[in-house]
Amino acid sequence: MLIVQKYGGTSVGSPQRIQAVADRIVKTRAAGHQVVVVVSAMGHSTDALVELASQITSEPNAREMDALLATGEQVSTALLAMALQSRHVKANSFTGWQAGIKTEPVHGAARIEDIDPRALTDYLKEDGVAIVAGFQGIALGSVTTLGRGGSDTTAVAIAAALHADRCEIYTDVDGVYTADPRKVPSARKLPMVSYEEMLELANLGSQVLHPRAVETAKRHNVALVVRSSFSDAEGTVITDMSTMEGLRVVTGVAQEKEVARVAILGVSLQSRPLAGLFGALADENINVDVIVQSIIRESEVDVSFTVFEADLPRVITLLDVLKPQLGFREVLHEKGLSKISIVGAGMISNPGVAAQMFEALEAVGAQVKMVSTSEIKVSCVIEQELLERALNSVHDSFALGKE
Ligand code: ADP
Ligand code: ASP
Ligand code: MG
Repeated sequence: MLIVQKYGGTSVGSPQRIQAVADRIVKTRAAGHQVVVVVSAMGHSTDALVELASQITSEPNAREMDALLATGEQVSTALLAMALQSRHVKANSFTGWQAGIKTEPVHGAARIEDIDPRALTDYLKEDGVAIVAGFQGIALGSVTTLGRGGSDTTAVAIAAALHADRCEIYTDVDGVYTADPRKVPSARKLPMVSYEEMLELANLGSQVLHPRAVETAKRHNVALVVRSSFSDAEGTVITDMSTMEGLRVVTGVAQEKEVARVAILGVSLQSRPLAGLFGALADENINVDVIVQSIIRESEVDVSFTVFEADLPRVITLLDVLKPQLGFREVLHEKGLSKISIVGAGMISNPGVAAQMFEALEAVGAQVKMVSTSEIKVSCVIEQELLERALNSVHDSFALGKE
């Protein structure tokens, strides 16, 4: 079999951890498999590089930021290659561009457009272990990065390009849980999750997989497993919905912190408020999440939406500029919020799920400030201070800790 293995930051966080990863690769080879490895930067070294740049300038150039951040993964690929070579295993490190990973010409969160796998397939034919730097690619001759957590996406995209039999994501928890096990002690490991549910969980803040990794796996039908590099425990298989036995009403709970809410009161309807406002926010690359519009009078609406807290100052500045055009009465904003979401493919046919969630939130005194729903999720914006209690309350209410 051809297996792509991806090791995250904690899994290669020290020389000892890198040695342990090399041992696991040797074992996989001894079992008769071919292996391509993708690694993240060691521990929190990407954060350290971000911090380093901030000591030079508050507005680093996007191209140079990518050039800087891509170095983290190059350290771990070279060290892991050395660890394998010292075990008499043929191994080479590959940067993203050496591995043929081409992205769109965008810095900071580029999408992979194409992979030319020849360098990797040639090396596999020579019976070597290719160790590829995650999170990076090349576009128009410049180094690009895929967005934080993007090494997962590198691994899945390579697995798709090589038609690998399996892609294994090794991390510091032994699978996908019903909630972040660091925040919800009663969270339970899920043996299987559908691509659809995993995509929602990832998009709604479950850090364990990068959303684009799940998207790519679903599109190319990549068999994906999440498991621990610290143990041999069986992980979680991410698979097609049709292969799953029965659909759970609620599969998991996810959370996103540092959310801010903006409410614009008394917007004149004549000004095409939604198109004008959200078009302007998109032009500034400000991500808008939950949106609520309520028509108050015939000629006026109130519009509220959430953004990342870090973007709030830019939103306020932009609204000052837009005020004459939109003709609103007042802007209110609130920081220190979080979004808590439940996800489950069986939710569609179960009315009353949202009501049960609201009750569980009320039980810990969390006021629901905004709600958004889809066929397989319900999200509520609440005060961040109550997040942890809210997560546990919702998790218990749907009995997610029990089989
Ligand atoms: P890596 O460095 O290996 O990519 P990450 O930190 O990106 O690891 O992802 C693993 C972390 O995701 C876990 O330590 C855990 O705290 C967090 N996490 C959030 N939600 C979940 C979930 N539903 N199941 C498992 N882990 C989760
Ligand atoms: N090193 C990058 C990050 O910390 C990419 C990754 O780990 O997936 O975000
Ligand atoms: Mg990660």
